[in-house]
Amino acid sequence: MDQELPAAVDALVIGGGPAGLSAALWLGRYRRHTLVVDSGHQRNLPAALAHGVPGRDPVPPAELLADLRAGLEPYPDVRLAAGTVTEVCGDVERGFTAVVDGRHEVAAARVVIATGVGDRLPGLEGLSAHYGLDVHHCPACDGFEVRGRDVVVLGDGPQVPAFASELLDWAATVRIVTDAAGAAFEEGQRRTLAEHGIEVVDGRAAALAGAPGELSGVVLADGTVVPGAAVFFSYAHRPANALARALGCDLDEDGQVLVDGFQLTSVPGVYAAGDLAPGLQLVAIAMGQGVAAGIACATSLRGGRSTGSAPRPAPPTSRFAAGR
Ligand SMILES: Cc1cc2nc3c(=O)[nH]c(=O)nc-3n(C[C@H](O)[C@H](O)[C@H](O)COP(=O)(O)OP(=O)(O)OC[C@H]3O[C@@H](n4cnc5c(N)ncnc54)[C@H](O)[C@@H]3O)c2cc1C
Repeated sequence: MDQELPAAVDALVIGGGPAGLSAALWLGRYRRHTLVVDSGHQRNLPAALAHGVPGRDPVPPAELLADLRAGLEPYPDVRLAAGTVTEVCGDVERGFTAVVDGRHEVAAARVVIATGVGDRLPGLEGLSAHYGLDVHHCPACDGFEVRGRDVVVLGDGPQVPAFASELLDWAATVRIVTDAAGAAFEEGQRRTLAEHGIEVVDGRAAALAGAPGELSGVVLADGTVVPGAAVFFSYAHRPANALARALGCDLDEDGQVLVDGFQLTSVPGVYAAGDLAPGLQLVAIAMGQGVAAGIACATSLRGGRSTGSAPRPAPPTSRFAAGR
């Protein structure tokens, strides 16, 4: 990254997905000097289409991101930069300092963390060509698109039976290929699956059969083909919480960053939004949380000096104060 970065801003937004860009929009509307730093790996970019975004259903993820970025153009206080925030420290009293790409220091009065989560993908031959077309991880996001079709579920862990059951809302048939998960199923879970017509196939998924977008099944290590027009997988995902942890934010047991109703974390002056925070991991939710974080963050700056174009220091507003 060879771009000139501001030395000091009112708000640093880390992550430029739907959550971070929505926070930036509202910080811009409140005329707070805002820098969004984004490393460009938005979670759903491999998907052909994002579904269920009100008013934009469906929309290619890259198109939605381009529109969210374009929506910031009328706001002169907001700046986007490509890069990775590698360190962040400080507190609301002294201010925060972030390091971008290991070398650019940026001081910020507030921080919004919207770094999302990372997904663990199944180790299947041919996966990258199919991922987001006919291999998915989110029943809510792509279930409607597989209505009436045969679906194969892959995953490891005791959550797999419940995950597979969700797909009964749409699929004609659901089959689970156990991989490591089989051993984790309890007898009661197996009984419930059988009662609901979900077949459990013991085997290790090795490859995908059929052209991308025309999946015909999952090939097991022993050569058997389990038929299906779509695959859904459920493996653990990893919240990108390293910076939140560095700042001392409280996490829940899954590593999500705990927030209040205005997306304020346990650390005064630090907000978190999107998949990184607890809640449904969907574009529209990320945008809504980003909006809340942006407004709360912007209005928490009332009463202080701004590096943005906001005209006068207004009296502090207790409702959105930076600390609890
Ligand atoms: C394959 C797939 C399909 C999906 N389909 C749908 C769908 O149809 N409908 C739907 O509503 N949801 C869908 N989702 C979920 C949706 O992608 C997420 O809910 C949404 O992207 C969350 O937005 P976010 O801003 O929190 O995170 P992200 O969009 O993941 O953005 C986080 C950004 O932060 C950046 N970042 C991380 N760390 C740093 C750092 N240290 N410095 C700078 N930048 C950093 C990342 O590179 C990334 O650009 C899908 C997800 C996947 C994986």
